[in-house]
Amino acid sequence: MRQPITAQQIKELAVQLDPSTRLLTAADGDEYERLIARWADNAVKRAGAVSVPVSYEEVSKLVKFASDNKLDLAVRGGGHSTGGTSSTEGGLTIDLSGMRAVKVDKDSKLIVAQGGALWEDVDNAAIEKGLATVGGTVNHTGIGGLTLGGGMGWLSGLYGTVVDNLVAAKVVVADGRILSVSENENADLFWAIRGAGHNFGVAVEFTLRGYDQPNEIYAGGVVFTPDKLVPLVEGFNTRMKNSDPKGAGILIFAKPPGMPVAVVVVNVFYNGDEAAAREYFKFLFDLQPVAITAKMMPYNHLNTLLNPMATHGRRKALKAVTVTDHIDVAFVQELYNDYAQQVEKNPDMSASFLGIEIHDTTKMQSVPLEAMAFSNRGSYRPGIVGLEWTDPLMDEENRAWGRMIQAKCRQAVIDSKEFSGDTKTSLEYANYVEPGDLITDKPFGGNQQRLAILKHKYDPDVMFNKTSPITPLRAEAN
Ligand SMILES: Cc1cc2nc3c(=O)[nH]c(=O)nc-3n(C[C@H](O)[C@H](O)[C@H](O)COP(=O)(O)OP(=O)(O)OC[C@H]3O[C@@H](n4cnc5c(N)ncnc54)[C@H](O)[C@@H]3O)c2cc1C
Repeated sequence: MRQPITAQQIKELAVQLDPSTRLLTAADGDEYERLIARWADNAVKRAGAVSVPVSYEEVSKLVKFASDNKLDLAVRGGGHSTGGTSSTEGGLTIDLSGMRAVKVDKDSKLIVAQGGALWEDVDNAAIEKGLATVGGTVNHTGIGGLTLGGGMGWLSGLYGTVVDNLVAAKVVVADGRILSVSENENADLFWAIRGAGHNFGVAVEFTLRGYDQPNEIYAGGVVFTPDKLVPLVEGFNTRMKNSDPKGAGILIFAKPPGMPVAVVVVNVFYNGDEAAAREYFKFLFDLQPVAITAKMMPYNHLNTLLNPMATHGRRKALKAVTVTDHIDVAFVQELYNDYAQQVEKNPDMSASFLGIEIHDTTKMQSVPLEAMAFSNRGSYRPGIVGLEWTDPLMDEENRAWGRMIQAKCRQAVIDSKEFSGDTKTSLEYANYVEPGDLITDKPFGGNQQRLAILKHKYDPDVMFNKTSPITPLRAEAN
């Protein structure tokens, strides 16, 4: 059981820290409140102390202090966890918002970003040098949490997951050591942080592979009335038999303010010119959408497009869902009906959405499951239920609805002809799973046991325990 930080420990810690590291408590008023705020209001917890280090050595001191005193430790990257995994009730928070620097080398095409950077920091710095990398589709999410859990984005069709493009990192492990990790240095830890990284330390630096991005891209929304859902999904199924990794879409059910019914929006992306994009998505445009916002734009505008439906504040929960690679039209219609009925019955949830990500998975699946901890590489489509509401009394009920959809999707995949019974992959994407979503006891599929052994090596006291926690296993016990 990890402990809250005491007033005496806060004094002792303050003496050890460099003046560049701010250490705040509730007595610091608004600045403390700003630091404990999170993307979702329900993820806020009242830390005993919040530290804001600006150097790797200071992170090391903080981690060592938390280890020595068995403190409950939270690490905050972009603060987007809806399950409160970057917050602590009474413990110590290491807030990485003072460490957002990004350096880009055009020749090597390497992007070196500090652990508290947001995707906007990376996208903007990279495109200045004509480069782009796989990153989050909402550019105010943290690169920390997203990368350590695997990371998927609009460029995943072309280049795979974020961790497929992680070349090296610097990680402060539980005993305070600052370890460089790559294929050549501490390779076992490098393997573990690529997918299960939240469990192994504080990643203070990431080195990501960039790619030439000389052209603008085509992206935006294409909006349909719900009667178009079936032909639209059939069109996607046909398209994906002959897919182009430059193109991707997210099929979203949403109820924008003022709309009488839930609509179907396809957010499209094509890494090329408008004519090629229109040809690739011809099946969509032929279905007479009611609105089209998609257009050509500079690459670094791409990950701002979904920001308006992902603003900070209010109560929120993410629920990972998975559907079959060939999307079952009857099932997706059932999901639409469930969604539409729920937002109709409970208008406080009308800002909620359900999304299914459709991109070419060839590149992602070309990486063996054993290559790194990330194990969500099946031949199926990841999706997300993004729940949003305002009434705190509805927290459990609204989450339960999301979990019901989650369980239904899981069962539909298991019951499908496509499911091979393979337990090496994990069906749900770990970054969309929240504590309490008891859908699986093996979030890392076939990599679970190796991770447990590495957990014993790097964090035997389980200090890093908030996102998909791993129970340590002695190597000789297996
Ligand atoms: C609006 C929105 C859009 C999203 N879009 C995508 C997407 O396009 N692709 C995708 O793959 N996922 C996406 N996600 C899921 C996202 O990957 C996770 O929510 C992720 O945890 C967010 O990271 P964060 O740093 O912002 O969160 P935080 O709440 O700060 O952290 C989440 C977890 O990561 C840990 N953590 C964060 N930074 C570090 C670090 N440097 N070192 C060690 N531990 C760290 C925290 O301790 C915590 O356990 C999205 C989520 C939201 C809310």
